[in-house]
Amino acid sequence: MNEFDLISKYFSWPLSDTSVVLGVGDDGAICDVESGYQLVTSIDTLIAGVHFPKSTSAADIAHKALAVNLSDMAAMGALPKHFTLALTLPEVDQSWLEDFSQSLQQLSTQSGVSLIGGDTTKGPLSIAISIVGWVESGKALRRSGAQIGDGVYVSNTIGDAAFSLWQLNNNDAPDSGCLVKLNRPMPQVELGRSLQGIASACIDISDGLKQDLCHILKASKVSARIEVEKIPLAKVLTDHVNKKNDWSLVLNGGDDYELCFTVPVKNQTMLSGISKRCGVKITQVGVICESGDLEIVGAKNIGRSYQHF
Ligand code: ADP
Ligand code: MG
Repeated sequence: MNEFDLISKYFSWPLSDTSVVLGVGDDGAICDVESGYQLVTSIDTLIAGVHFPKSTSAADIAHKALAVNLSDMAAMGALPKHFTLALTLPEVDQSWLEDFSQSLQQLSTQSGVSLIGGDTTKGPLSIAISIVGWVESGKALRRSGAQIGDGVYVSNTIGDAAFSLWQLNNNDAPDSGCLVKLNRPMPQVELGRSLQGIASACIDISDGLKQDLCHILKASKVSARIEVEKIPLAKVLTDHVNKKNDWSLVLNGGDDYELCFTVPVKNQTMLSGISKRCGVKITQVGVICESGDLEIVGAKNIGRSYQHF
């Protein structure tokens, strides 16, 4: 099977999005943009052995590659619209491609985002997805708006994905709930959209709560005080933390793709309605304060987040 047959068989399914004027097949894709919107773009690459264990299924890899990009749109408060896929494959394995393509199509349909082009090459397995979203002009959420006195919040529970990876690496029987969060993260797009005009800053948690919150603090030129006891944890995580007296998976574990955001006091009453409407738990874990080091109350043994270099 040559490259072009591969693209037409696995990556050019019909699209229903009327903003796509020309999708896969030409030198470039053409999309309309509605007036009143700005484009938000982002790219993320997943490399076998770095971003996922080599044993990960094709369907999980496809889901995750798109989900991490959708999560960046969520963090910006944007509506995901279009994406391109740069796929590097060691070989043409049709059953792998079938699973990958099906899973990618499923999440893209579910999220209302269209595959409009890409690139296919041979080499060690890597998947880069570049995504474009729309945001109401001037309304995007940024990392830089946190103010002294704002609450610091997170969605759902933290550390599940890292705990799952820890279990895999320790040949522990995997907790099924945490494994789903590792392999099939569900980006908080609806929450991000709902936080427009409510949150003062927002980020998605990809590298760990501590490091990602620090990105907000640095961009906003403030600091924060968070209390580990307030961080929402799955029951298995609570047990793990109690047993090991070690908060590193919670504070440094990446791959949660939950949102961490700050909200001024005057907007905080809106959060319970947003939580109900989006079906997402929202928990305050701390407060923004004057510049200085991030203060983490109640935890020893916190280590360092993942860094590539
Ligand atoms: P070019 O050589 O002009 O860059 P290619 O031969 O690489 O074009 O790709 C042909 C068409 O297929 C283009 O529209 C490109 O966007 C699309 N394409 C290539 N690889 C993929 C992929 N993995 N997924 C989706 N579309 C792809
Ligand atoms: Mg060309």
